Amino acid sequence: MSLPTYTFTCSGCSLQSLFVPYGIAYRYKLPDGSDIEAKIANGWCTACDAAGKMQPHLTPDSLQEKFVKLKNQFAAQPKPGFFNSLFGKRLSDEEYWSLYSVNKELERIPKLQELVGNRAVPARCLTCGSHSVEKFSLTEYGSEGPVPLPFAHPNCGGTLLIEEAGRWMSGPQPPVFLELHDSKRVERT
Ligand SMILES: [Zn+2]
Ligand SMILES: [Zn+2]
Repeated sequence: MSLPTYTFTCSGCSLQSLFVPYGIAYRYKLPDGSDIEAKIANGWCTACDAAGKMQPHLTPDSLQEKFVKLKNQFAAQPKPGFFNSLFGKRLSDEEYWSLYSVNKELERIPKLQELVGNRAVPARCLTCGSHSVEKFSLTEYGSEGPVPLPFAHPNCGGTLLIEEAGRWMSGPQPPVFLELHDSKRVERT
């Protein structure tokens, strides 16, 4: 699999940082021994002064909100089967894929809710453990030159610019299990 890499520069200082978003699958272990996918975000860490992987902020309310939203989305989506077949409805590949991924999330979130319980899990840098992280989404940035991030470089206040810096080849990686409470890597199998 070929993955893009990114360079970060700053309008206010000499920062130059390469970010390789490794295609690692992060997972949470459940009390019954099974495990679920951990959705990890990309973020800027003030302590590392670099981009890296981060554990997103999780609260009982935000998880419930997400669950209800997905449930409504699932209810509104066209489904294959008897009812739709009356109208000769055939789902496109995209509709199937969307239905599948929403359904998968509807199975995953209740398990995550059980794991989180009534705690609020703070966002955390997976490289150094600092809570001083700002989330960003790489999907918003293409390969058309340096694009400013929506937040300033914390260490100098300048504008952080992101640019795609070529691709690299990555083979399948073993999953990394995260401890939810402090988001430290606990084991690698
Ligand atoms: Zn700077
Ligand atoms: Zn860090």
